[in-house]
Amino acid sequence: ETEALYCIGCGAKLQTTDPKAPGYLPAGTMAKAQADPDGELYCQRCFRLRHYNDIQGVSLTDDDFLRLLTALGQSDALIVNVVDIFDFDGSVIPGLHRFVGDNPVILVGNKADVLPKSVNQRRLTQWLSHAAHEQGLRPVATLLTSAKKGHVEDLLATIEEYREGRDVYVVGVTNTGKSTLINQIIRHLTGEQDVITTSRFPGTTLDRIEIPLADGKSLIDTPGIIHHHQMAHYINKADLNLVAPTKPIRPTVYQLNPGQTIFLAGLARFDFLAGQRSGFTVYADNQLLLHRTKLENADAFYAKHVGDLLQPPRPADLADFPPLARFEFTPKQKSDLVFAGLGWIVVPAGQTVAGYAPTGVAVTLRPALI
Ligand code: GDP
Repeated sequence: ETEALYCIGCGAKLQTTDPKAPGYLPAGTMAKAQADPDGELYCQRCFRLRHYNDIQGVSLTDDDFLRLLTALGQSDALIVNVVDIFDFDGSVIPGLHRFVGDNPVILVGNKADVLPKSVNQRRLTQWLSHAAHEQGLRPVATLLTSAKKGHVEDLLATIEEYREGRDVYVVGVTNTGKSTLINQIIRHLTGEQDVITTSRFPGTTLDRIEIPLADGKSLIDTPGIIHHHQMAHYINKADLNLVAPTKPIRPTVYQLNPGQTIFLAGLARFDFLAGQRSGFTVYADNQLLLHRTKLENADAFYAKHVGDLLQPPRPADLADFPPLARFEFTPKQKSDLVFAGLGWIVVPAGQTVAGYAPTGVAVTLRPALI
């Protein structure tokens, strides 16, 4: 008889018979693992999360966190996933859909107040839902909130609509405003603060906050997950306001010829490579420095001025600041070139442009929101 083996990710007893049950591992992998007693043993679910994260470069390596996610999949609950609409790529939880199992997910795009009034909310919601689908997530509902403004009534109504007597788990990466949202929910549900109970996730060292609901069930806040590929991790705390705007962002329009570059401080760069002279609208925090220059001089200009004229990053943070990575696009339709967590530039159809961000931070294209 062989000794029972346990997944070092979630602690489940490894088994080769039921792919849907905890601790599943294909028989071949199990055999290999048994032959190598020093090998690290993960169930398929935890292995995939780790593997997927390697590709994504997201560090969710904390075993506690894997256990937590696994617990979510094993419970009968409604999941509320909070993301930052200003930084979808930096706030999505890779592989979440594999962990939630059959549990329904409500996707909440927070910080709606940061967007200019001219943004079509319905289009934004559709885009968010589409972006979630691309990650394999199939939310039963997608909605926008502003935790800061305390607008959580729609969210609470949606939760009640889908809860069907179950517990509610709120999950999200740090900086999405999850704590702010939870505080608003507490205020709305109870009008007082001292209803919060904290307990531990079974088998982990992670604390959770439980807010009792009327029917004896709970709304449970899970610890924020750190997503390393957020712009916020690359800049000084004192400059965080630039990547977490608190006021609606105001657009700045540049009339550009091909061969011109715009720097968004030292954090990002936009090149207009080919096309016709046209207007490009920049949406970023109103305090963020924008600097226009010639493309042919842009590399040298950046090398010389990053950390001084082009700030942030601050001089003290330069050593740890990643080099900018470049992405080229020629959108077929009017599109937003998105610098995850920083803002976006509206690119007219048919123009060839390049966007740069610190290596690891996403630069993506989406249909224009405005
Ligand atoms: P957590 O790490 O996900 O728990 O996020 P916090 O609740 O600590 O919020 C992170 C930052 O985002 C803080 O600076 C908040 O003030 C800010 N924030 C949270 N919710 C909102 C919101 O709805 N709008 C705006 N503009 N900022 C928000």
